Amino acid sequence: MSAPATFTYTDPGTPTPNPAHESDAARIAFWEAQAQRLDWETTWQKAHTFKKPQSLGTDADGVEQFTVPQIRWFEGGTLNASYNCVDRHVEAGRGDKVALFFEGEPGDREAITYAELQRRVARAAHGLEKLGVTKGDRVVIYLPVIPETVIFTLACARIGAIHSLVFGGFSAEALRFRVEDTGAKVLITTDGQNRRGSVVPVKVNADEACSGENQIEHIIVVDRTAGTDQARGAVPWTPGRDVWYRELIEGLPETHSPEFFDAETPLFIIYTSGTTGKPKGLVHTTGGYLTQTAYTHALLFDLLPETTGADGTLRVDELAATNDPARVRDTVHWCTADLAWVTAHTYEIYGPLLSGVSQVIYEGTPNTPTFERHFEIIERYGVTNYYTAPTLIRSLMGAFPDGLPAGKYDLSSVRLLGSVGESINPEAWRWLRTHVGGGTASFIDTWWQSETGSTVCSPRPHDPQFAPAGRFAASGQVPGTSLETKPGCATRSVPGISTRVVDEAGRDVAPGEQGFIVVDKIGPSMARTVWGNPQRYLDSYWRHFGERGWFLAGDGAKTDELGDTYILGRIDDVINISGHRLSTIEIESALVTHEAVVEAGVCPVEDELTGHQAVAYVTLSEAGRALSAQDLKAALLEHVRHAIGPIAKPKDVVAVADIPKTRSGKITRRLLGELYQGRTLGDVSSLQNEEALDAIAQVLAER
Ligand code: ATP
Ligand code: MG
Repeated sequence: MSAPATFTYTDPGTPTPNPAHESDAARIAFWEAQAQRLDWETTWQKAHTFKKPQSLGTDADGVEQFTVPQIRWFEGGTLNASYNCVDRHVEAGRGDKVALFFEGEPGDREAITYAELQRRVARAAHGLEKLGVTKGDRVVIYLPVIPETVIFTLACARIGAIHSLVFGGFSAEALRFRVEDTGAKVLITTDGQNRRGSVVPVKVNADEACSGENQIEHIIVVDRTAGTDQARGAVPWTPGRDVWYRELIEGLPETHSPEFFDAETPLFIIYTSGTTGKPKGLVHTTGGYLTQTAYTHALLFDLLPETTGADGTLRVDELAATNDPARVRDTVHWCTADLAWVTAHTYEIYGPLLSGVSQVIYEGTPNTPTFERHFEIIERYGVTNYYTAPTLIRSLMGAFPDGLPAGKYDLSSVRLLGSVGESINPEAWRWLRTHVGGGTASFIDTWWQSETGSTVCSPRPHDPQFAPAGRFAASGQVPGTSLETKPGCATRSVPGISTRVVDEAGRDVAPGEQGFIVVDKIGPSMARTVWGNPQRYLDSYWRHFGERGWFLAGDGAKTDELGDTYILGRIDDVINISGHRLSTIEIESALVTHEAVVEAGVCPVEDELTGHQAVAYVTLSEAGRALSAQDLKAALLEHVRHAIGPIAKPKDVVAVADIPKTRSGKITRRLLGELYQGRTLGDVSSLQNEEALDAIAQVLAER
């Protein structure tokens, strides 16, 4: 892309005004403009309705009760999600563009163009219809990261069925809960999965999950690992119920005319990981979800056009409702999340496909066969956007503390890095930017949740303090900026949404002070309800601030003097030491800057004197393993004292081999605390490394 001859960088102190800060009318008009990113069959009659919770007075126990809030966007407008992701690109002559670069764990590869994707989605849609699936039916998709996962997701959307993706690594029990809770009619699975170099049977889990009370009529089985008829013959089978994908679609037409559905038609149900209790099935609807997804994908993954202001200043047009075609053409996107996480729904399935970019999907784990796999993939496909999670960055950093093998990989295609899922430790931020981002890539730290559907707060890829040499680097004219980078800062809400950081009573907290982050002006991709349990929707998110209509996210946060927002982790992860509220994540971030530490998990434990104390679990580098337990503790306490202050010094340091995490890579601090205090552990079903618990219990017992 050729850069203009001269420009002045926009002063980051005067970011684009946010329509959500102007008025409700401006905010709604903004989202109406963004909805033009989609193709609508008929336009909406009502842009937005929000019936806030209304007080019903107090109940017999003196607790104030409220009505369940109701959110609607673009009601009366009709559209088809799969048409918007696929067909319209083909109709516009971009059918030959690669939509998916698939790489399997064993090394098989396939490039699927938009035209090919259209054909496969059509056949899958016919296949579902053949099995009697119609509008409003639920379909559970229990598949690994393979093209069929994307194909069936879009096929469901095409016929108005509600999809619910379940992580392929989940147990039969976790799957059973989701099959039963959704009341799904069809389950889609594979015969087996490639996992860390071996083949793991999957169909047997699916059978077990469907053995109780449920509405399942058919199980569609994608042949991923069987390979031979004999192997296929060995897959457990219930005739009449089970059907092979390849047999289902045989002879079915490669075209399918889409039906158009009201914008408020449910698109999918996504279960929260359940770190805070029984998983909630959040319901997202079509028009609003796709609008905010398409917009935030373009804004954050740097597809928006540039404009020259009246004063001659060149800037990125943050409010544009179209993308720069050259940037769309140049982008190779890679979101490393499993397709079943909300991250992937928005920035791996719907977002990139709505934008019409090419993207990589990779089946396997990052360390199969070695931790170099991701670098190979980046090089092979010329990945420009690498969007991943802090846990993965920390493992890469653990594997390559001093950077990648010199000269071995060409990662020069990378121009944007992104992180999601947890607060990113500044150390991990720096490592990734230096070693994968060439020291210059933009870095977006996107804060959002299953509930919000797409990003709420993030730096922009063109913000100078995050990308001093980012987007405009090619021109060589980026003016030197004295602004400091702010690793791990979620910065500010995207246009059209507003957040604030408040105390219990809803008062804005002063800069530097901890509070709760709330969304006080919502965007169109907010979840509409909890599947089958509207009361839980009210109780979990809306009850606290009642008639104000603020969404309580459940995360702690603070702002700095410039008004930029830092996320401090879940409210439950905050430690209160002698009245000082400390963030576990801040302590962890300090610990991982010590050369002895690879990863840290900090939890609160009760203390008679101070209320809480912090206990630090750490995994060690070679340098750390060389120290005695006593020296290690002394070194780390001194380090934290220096980095944060004496109050933050952990009461204890426990060196362990592995830190327990959820399947989506979040450190389970609650379990760490329960272990330390010898309490019975709560729900552990969403853990990726349950064995870490026993190992820790043993370490604690042996001390
Ligand atoms: P459950 O609510 O059932 O415990 P979950 O919260 O893990 O599940 P998600 O919706 O996938 O399920 O995760 C959202 C949470 O992840 C946020 O509330 C926040 O705590 C954390 N998070 C996500 N992105 C960021 C980020 N960029 N910075 C800090 N925290 C983040
Ligand atoms: Mg949550």
